[in-house]
Amino acid sequence: MEVFKFGGASVKDAAGVRNLANIVKDYKVAELLIVVSAMGKMTNRLEDLTQAYLSKTENLNVIFEEVKNFHFNLIDELFEGNHHAVYDDVANTFVEIDWLLEDAPDGNDAYIYDQIVSIGEIVSTKIIAAWLNHCGQKTLWADARSYIQTDNTHREGKVNWDKTEKIIQEDLLPVLSQNIVVTQGFIGGTTENYTTTLGREGSDYSAAIFAYCLNANAVTIWKDVPGVLNADPKWFDVTEKIDQMSYYDAIELTYYGATVIHPKTIKPLQNKDIPLYVRSFLQPAEKGTIIANTSNPLPIPSFIFKINQALISIFPKDYSFIIEENLSKIFDLFHKHNVKINTMLNSAMSFSVSVDDNEETVKKLLEVLSTDFMVKYNRDLELVTIRYYDEQTIARTIVNKEILLEVKSRHTCQMVMKNLANS
Ligand code: ASP
Ligand code: MG
Repeated sequence: MEVFKFGGASVKDAAGVRNLANIVKDYKVAELLIVVSAMGKMTNRLEDLTQAYLSKTENLNVIFEEVKNFHFNLIDELFEGNHHAVYDDVANTFVEIDWLLEDAPDGNDAYIYDQIVSIGEIVSTKIIAAWLNHCGQKTLWADARSYIQTDNTHREGKVNWDKTEKIIQEDLLPVLSQNIVVTQGFIGGTTENYTTTLGREGSDYSAAIFAYCLNANAVTIWKDVPGVLNADPKWFDVTEKIDQMSYYDAIELTYYGATVIHPKTIKPLQNKDIPLYVRSFLQPAEKGTIIANTSNPLPIPSFIFKINQALISIFPKDYSFIIEENLSKIFDLFHKHNVKINTMLNSAMSFSVSVDDNEETVKKLLEVLSTDFMVKYNRDLELVTIRYYDEQTIARTIVNKEILLEVKSRHTCQMVMKNLANS
């Protein structure tokens, strides 16, 4: 029993859907669950649609027509204009959104977001299941909202693991011996049958939840990169693929911003010792990266950039030390304002942290901090995290940068820097 996960980039057009079916055919896994995201950039467009609805802008219909046409054209291309039943199925799914859009927004924006944005995954999986059946692979479409049980935290649903595991074991496992099952990433359902989402890019996490609950033998995430690379190819021309990586290193790298896998994916897999393969859907015969239970360190230094960082320095106004009492007050305020600390350093009288510069929340945090503390901050910075750092890698990452803060542990070096090319 294995789980495959295909993201939006792998199914951004009809050729992508055909390619997915070829991979499934070539890999002949005995029991297979396929978790799929919304196609291409559809989640972004559905977010635009939600925004247009909530702020009552005129382009609402234009965006919705674009989303519909994208899927209808893709169906036409796949089935070469023959009217396949999936066409009506997808059209009916859009009608549910039509109904929702007819009413005025009720103020529950996060709830509305989930009902609209989840449609991307619902229709993509309907199309893919239809295509696999058309290609002679017996496939069932499964509604992830009936399996992944969450609380009511819309846009960030928290999984009820016990309930989810029970339902998946009882209702989904038996089906897998007879059929390939295609289901949605990113979405779940509440006890009252409302749709929730698990946070952007959450489909990897969904694949891990299903794998955990099914006691799968392996999960494969099919990506547009050959595997996990030691640096983001968006920023660096020269990168190297890592063949094998421990769960521990995978968490360290994804936590600090490696976007190749969603950070929440690893824990459920580690807990059941399920290996995670990251492979290229463009070169499916290549081996990719295996993330598993190994104590081997990474073979080469790996580094991750996070841009748009704010460096906040906090000093007690009363000249008290930065010790337990002050620190706990500071952490509490960060926690209450939902601001995640990316790196930190303290001295006798100061505490410095770098955080994602989400203007609204950071502004509020700075306000409350300044009651007891003097606060200074710097914006528009970059954070680099180097795992298994060496002098050469440090040199490579600081070209044309001014280092404002540096923290080193045995295996990890973090630097908050100003890009001098920007100033
Ligand atoms: N479609 C969702 C998103 O774009 C989930 C995912 O792709 O993982 O965030
Ligand atoms: Mg995606």
